[in-house]
Amino acid sequence: MFYNSTRNSEVKVSSAEAITQGISAEGGLFVPEEIPALTLDEIKAVGEMKYADRAAYVFSKYLTDFTDAEIHYCTDNAYSDKNFETENIAEIAHLFSGTYMLELWHGPTCAFKDMALQILPYFLTTSAKKIKLDKKIVILVATSGDTGKAALEGFKDVEGTSILVFYPEDGVSPMQKRQMKTQEGGNVGVCAIKGNFDDCQNGVKAIFTDNEVKNLLDENGMMFSSANSINWGRLVPQIVYYVSAYAELAKDGEIKLGEKINVVVPTGNFGNILAAYYAKHMGVPINKLICASNINNVLTDFINTGVYDRNRQFYATVSPSMDILISSNLERLLYLMTGKNDAVIREWFSKLASEGRYEVSADVKAKLAEEFCAGFCDDEQTKNTIHAIYEKYSYTCDTHTAVAVKVYNDYKDATGDETKTVIASTASPYKFSAAVLAALESGNEDMDEYSKVDRIAQLSDIAVPSALADLKNKPERFSDVIEKADQKAYVLKTLGL
Ligand SMILES: *Cc1c(COP(=O)(O)O)cnc(C)c1O
Repeated sequence: MFYNSTRNSEVKVSSAEAITQGISAEGGLFVPEEIPALTLDEIKAVGEMKYADRAAYVFSKYLTDFTDAEIHYCTDNAYSDKNFETENIAEIAHLFSGTYMLELWHGPTCAFKDMALQILPYFLTTSAKKIKLDKKIVILVATSGDTGKAALEGFKDVEGTSILVFYPEDGVSPMQKRQMKTQEGGNVGVCAIKGNFDDCQNGVKAIFTDNEVKNLLDENGMMFSSANSINWGRLVPQIVYYVSAYAELAKDGEIKLGEKINVVVPTGNFGNILAAYYAKHMGVPINKLICASNINNVLTDFINTGVYDRNRQFYATVSPSMDILISSNLERLLYLMTGKNDAVIREWFSKLASEGRYEVSADVKAKLAEEFCAGFCDDEQTKNTIHAIYEKYSYTCDTHTAVAVKVYNDYKDATGDETKTVIASTASPYKFSAAVLAALESGNEDMDEYSKVDRIAQLSDIAVPSALADLKNKPERFSDVIEKADQKAYVLKTLGL
């Protein structure tokens, strides 16, 4: 299996090369040449395996340049009970008849990004070895909260890597800040920037492309890489849990093997729902892919009209990990839907860069309508949904997941579609405790974060994840705060250059 670039179909690289490069030289994203097939018999067999082996089975179809031993080295290290609190890794909770919550947040940082970031470091170091890049991999991350912590936990103490994370001093939640400042590991660094997320991100991008820095690293046996969600090594692990969920439901007799299900995904950068699309086209019987957004509803409009227009107000919401106006992974979907037309992708995405807007062809609009449905809801509706779910089913869900539940309810009301449905649950309710508690009951606004967590634990059936419970007693290791102009010097100093 080789990988092409969405902006140049002539590019042809192995998966190890795609993963180490992250993004193609001309700015395109790597996509597999073909989507490998999975038969119903294979899906049935996958249902009998433990999660790490399910993952290895799916990876063997995409990472064909990896040996079985290499794949198992990655999956066994990533998906073990050392890192995840449930044996199933991706637990399925039954919300009500025919509706299942795929809980993707039992990893070390309590959000679904762990599903990919626990394995990416192993993919990266294995890939680098395979293509004889005998260098230490230095990961730089700019984060608005979730990604940075998940990347830190993934890369911590992984041999042959080091990681440095920058976050905006006043741009993350108190819990997120504490999670990062107390980070353990001998190869990690965390630093706050006096500025916003864009300042962090621009600084990191400038360092990545700075030739002086690159040469210095090279002379010292190091290279930069990115843990960003456009890396194929972050997308492919997400395909696994859709295959796994289907196989599990079939094994448990909840669905008949071959019966179609709907999948609902709370969406930001379009990575998670794109993974579901890949699972569907591999052969997992999926009917509709339902794309749920918060009030930053650029994707709802796109799926419903075929016009992508980022020229709109940006809102900070109670589901911050979906506060995004440019969904990078959409590029991969459009490349597939245009029949791998790299010229048209270049045209649309240069329009997006220059005008902030593009409109897809009638053919692509028809394909979007056939495969996807889309909806959105605001913060008030999100909180009302958390409350209603709690009252009705004694289940506590986080704000992002609540957006998906609300959009799904609307979809069902509008269509009467009774197809059994899997809803991707992307974060633990404890991770967004302020908004979740406010939704459950009023009058606790003044509590500190830890008391809010304790109060949710009293109200809810869900145990506090140990990673969050332990946070209170952990010493702070990182307190550096720097000016944005000093980011490059800070990186060099940290690397001892
Ligand atoms: C990142 C994130 C999302 C959005 O996922 P995409 O793959 O970017 O669409 C949704 N929910 C949570 C909790 C997240 O952290």
